[in-house]
Amino acid sequence: MKGYANNILYINLRTGKTKTEPLGEEMARKFLGGAGFGIKMITDYQRPNTDAFDPENPIVYSCGTFCGMMVSGSASKWGVAAKSPQSQGLGESYSTGFFGSELRRAGYDIVVVTGKAERPSYLYLEDDSVQILDASHLWGKNNWDTEDIIKSDLGDPGVRVASIGPAGEKLVRFSAIINDRLRAAGRTGMGAVMGSKNLKAVAVRGFNDVEVADVDGFKEMALEIYEKTKGPETEKYRNLGTAANVLTLNKQAAMPTRNWQDAVFEKADKISGEASNEMYVEKIQACDSCGMRCEHVAVVREGPFKGAIGRVEYEPSYAFGSCTGVDRPDAIVRAVQLCDLYGTDALSTGVVVAFAMEAYEKGIITKEDTGGIELEFGNAEGMCDMVEKIALREDIGDLLAEGVERAAAKLGKGSEKFAMHIKGVEMTGYDVRGLKTCALGYAVSRRGADHQRHGAYGPDLGGQVDRFKAEKGRGQLVIDGEDLYSVMDSLIICKFSRRIWDYESYAKMYTLATGIPMTAEEMRRCGERISNLGKIYNLREGIGREKDTLPIRCMTDPIKSGVAKGSLVTQEELDLLLDDYYETRGWSKEGIPSDAKLKELGLESYAGYLEDLKNTDSKKKSGKKKTTKKTKRD
Ligand code: SF4
Repeated sequence: MKGYANNILYINLRTGKTKTEPLGEEMARKFLGGAGFGIKMITDYQRPNTDAFDPENPIVYSCGTFCGMMVSGSASKWGVAAKSPQSQGLGESYSTGFFGSELRRAGYDIVVVTGKAERPSYLYLEDDSVQILDASHLWGKNNWDTEDIIKSDLGDPGVRVASIGPAGEKLVRFSAIINDRLRAAGRTGMGAVMGSKNLKAVAVRGFNDVEVADVDGFKEMALEIYEKTKGPETEKYRNLGTAANVLTLNKQAAMPTRNWQDAVFEKADKISGEASNEMYVEKIQACDSCGMRCEHVAVVREGPFKGAIGRVEYEPSYAFGSCTGVDRPDAIVRAVQLCDLYGTDALSTGVVVAFAMEAYEKGIITKEDTGGIELEFGNAEGMCDMVEKIALREDIGDLLAEGVERAAAKLGKGSEKFAMHIKGVEMTGYDVRGLKTCALGYAVSRRGADHQRHGAYGPDLGGQVDRFKAEKGRGQLVIDGEDLYSVMDSLIICKFSRRIWDYESYAKMYTLATGIPMTAEEMRRCGERISNLGKIYNLREGIGREKDTLPIRCMTDPIKSGVAKGSLVTQEELDLLLDDYYETRGWSKEGIPSDAKLKELGLESYAGYLEDLKNTDSKKKSGKKKTTKKTKRD
């Protein structure tokens, strides 16, 4: 098979044993790469109901299909999947930079790591050589130092490193994996899973060629895509990056403010992409082979945050800006840098700090708990100090490191009403109260609160539907987005280039690269298959309909100002949206895929997991013992 490296590498950190297996054409054709590979591997190789921090919880690193192939916006995308320490359901996250292309050149499509190393260790993969090396001297080091030391130890600046910082070592539940200094696989706590395995980093170096099936055809199409990524459809990302969304979303009353007490930030102009660009952005750079060049790197040259370096993006501008009430771009850059250094998900971290700010203002936590920080909304220095305390688990940071769901459960006193999470994963920056299609997308998102699983803000904000109305038909819109994003996260194509692709062009590029014939409809079907398998995994791990919900605040506290004033999502509206979505998916009212749907998607071998679920109640009543389908490991 061309395109792929055709290898799955398995590493057991406890025994030190490694083995490789061929990828196989069926796996490639049905699951593509990235998300598809990650979800398939953890479903097959993780024993049901294994705890996220159990050494036997496998962590799976996977290349996007076009890794190492010079496809603009796709050449170095990689993914990581494991059971999430936040949701205890599907954990998945994606990153970019240069790590993915190096992993493919080293000769691997997928790397599966199980077990826990006896002492801090890191992996070094260089072509056929797989080494588990001592990382005692790296333990406690931040991500940037870790990368530098590994490159120096190995004597090769071309080595690419994906590592965890002190937060991952200390099992902060929303820890990230950082690669190429500024790039993060941030969501769902994959860094904490590495920490639980004593795995500090994965370093890769590869010298293999990546061969494509149709060299001329591929070259022609790659050039065409490259030119398009420099065209008008991606202009916004080149000019301001995603931070361009700050003013747009604020105007639409969709920018959650002060821990979602409102959806309009009165100081949005101060933290806008325009303001940051003018004051702090010094460099614009790109991931491997990308013509869009969206990475706006800011450097703070003076003031209390002097020396801070970080990427300017919409989501951190929400998490560390409007959500915490902080109106200083230099503080946001510093907070982002701290997340990169210590290794936490910037999104979750900002929302956790905002939660703590509200708890502080309500007297649920005190200055004694915070170690002396006056943690009111808008306190920029206090916010940055708290980011460090969370990463190092100091003072109240130790509890906050568990995430808002667990922290609220411990703090009580009504704090669960303002814990902004879905399935234990903190909310990203679209205020769903006035975006009803998007609200459904968030509720059913397989990895917890997230806009990146469906992009369902599009129909709401683009005027395709009445954003304030919950009605039948929204299920199909969310499904279309989910299946498309499942394909994008498997091939892995940068979402910023989504307007220049369609199923037809994904399929064409796939066939040119791999030689595997693929039609647009087959490609769409891959997306549906991957979405369904993600659901099956979650159902098996106990994530059912009751978890397809929204934060309490989104269902009880209306937006206070702006064009969405008065909006919220009622339980009735959510039920209507969920029923419509499940039915359109071909799932039962409880969200269980039918046998016919499994057969249609070639997933019938997973029916056993669902049989157990369907029969749980009747078996309990009759006293029959539950049978559990075996995994490949058994
Ligand atoms: S658009 Fe930005 S994030 Fe996407 S591949 Fe290009 S540089 Fe990387």
